[in-house]
Amino acid sequence: MKFNYFIHICNAKTKVMKKYILVIVILLAIVGGANAQKYVFLFIGDGMGQADVDLYEAYLAEKEGKSGFVKSTISKFPFLSMCSTVCKDRRITDSGAAGSAIACGQKFNVGEIAYSETGEQPKSIAKVAKEKGLKVGIISTAPMNHATPASFYANQPTRKNYYQIGLQLSESNFDFFGGGGLLKQTGNKKDEKDLMTIYQEAGYLTFTSLKGISSLKSHNSKVIFTNETLERDASMPYFIDREGSAGNSLAEIVETATAYLDNPKGFFMMVEGGKIDYAAHDNDAGTVIGEMEDFDKAIEVAYNFYLQHKNETLIIITADHETGGVSLGIADNGYESDFGVLSKQKMSMSKFGTIIKKQTKNEESVSMKDYMDMASKYFMGIDMDFSSEEQALLNDAYAAVNAKSNRAKDEAKSKYNGNNPMAYAFCQIMNRRASVGFSTNAHTCAKVPIYAVGTTTPIYDNTEIFGVIKSFIEK
Ligand SMILES: [Zn+2]
Repeated sequence: MKFNYFIHICNAKTKVMKKYILVIVILLAIVGGANAQKYVFLFIGDGMGQADVDLYEAYLAEKEGKSGFVKSTISKFPFLSMCSTVCKDRRITDSGAAGSAIACGQKFNVGEIAYSETGEQPKSIAKVAKEKGLKVGIISTAPMNHATPASFYANQPTRKNYYQIGLQLSESNFDFFGGGGLLKQTGNKKDEKDLMTIYQEAGYLTFTSLKGISSLKSHNSKVIFTNETLERDASMPYFIDREGSAGNSLAEIVETATAYLDNPKGFFMMVEGGKIDYAAHDNDAGTVIGEMEDFDKAIEVAYNFYLQHKNETLIIITADHETGGVSLGIADNGYESDFGVLSKQKMSMSKFGTIIKKQTKNEESVSMKDYMDMASKYFMGIDMDFSSEEQALLNDAYAAVNAKSNRAKDEAKSKYNGNNPMAYAFCQIMNRRASVGFSTNAHTCAKVPIYAVGTTTPIYDNTEIFGVIKSFIEK
């Protein structure tokens, strides 16, 4: 009898124990499983090939008087892949097809925004994250309805549908948009309702100051931040041109967004360094370096966040494609390089072109010396003692700006890719002094790097990024 009683007690205790264990297991599942915080940062350097990362690191080294490379934050990431960017109908892609491939995990044709020729409109990883309860932020130095950011919230047959893309921005209901402004804000004919008004009516709070966002007591509103100073194309000014102009760095925007979006379910944030591409299209190495610095410092904000939330954070850094065919070393200079000389460049080639245009507007004839003086004052920062090859570049450009016939004018336009020929030639001289080469003013199909922390899954194609992020969110 006593023995039976003992067994009964034991069974009862085991039952209670089992119940406790079950409760603990459930609690652990809740804390460590489906409801865990998930932080995802996806950084896209538009046009950023591996050579751009190398150029930035060689430049950092020369600034510090060191040989080789000095590690950027990007290079601190423990995991590296190389990834193909080819799109459906062309080997050399554009930001529409490439951004959409990254966002949706499938290939598209050039110019499509998450919208296939059959009319299929797949869901982006940002939308998947939003449905899972994560907050979503979309940040770019390019306009908010430009191809790369658009790929994450819109579905349009062409990237040129800026106004329609803009309408889909507020329909996404995403929590944070920040960076550049809007292209075709009132439509192609300027007769549509202002997109900003539409956003405000949809409940978005709109800001041109990050402080305004930081001081919000509740983080439940949806916000749109537009940089205080914008270029005529609605993008943020280049890093190299920002000094003295109102506005923020990409790092400051990411910092504010991170604090604003942080919540118990986590967030997904896409951050685009959108103008590495613009500068590479212009074959402007000094400006590429500035854009890389802006991008790298924004990545540093995310990396520091990762150090505080190691097991909950995934960061992927990649590019939609390479632009410019950048090379470190050029034929004319053999084995010589001096990337540090680019720190002397005072502004972007495009801004210098605008200055030349303004200053020569009412002049009947502008001499080579006038151009030299302008270059010395606004652009070069180096001695104006030019080699015969450099002088030849200037002479060609001088002939181009003075072209009289329509045919000669058209030739100049195509040769200098629509840039002011003199500004372009002075920029070419800076590139030559540094030994930075460009093989094209368009995109290339060179594979782009993937740097990551929080995953060790190799990524060989841009469509694979979607799955890596999705499985991390669902883990
Ligand atoms: Zn481009």
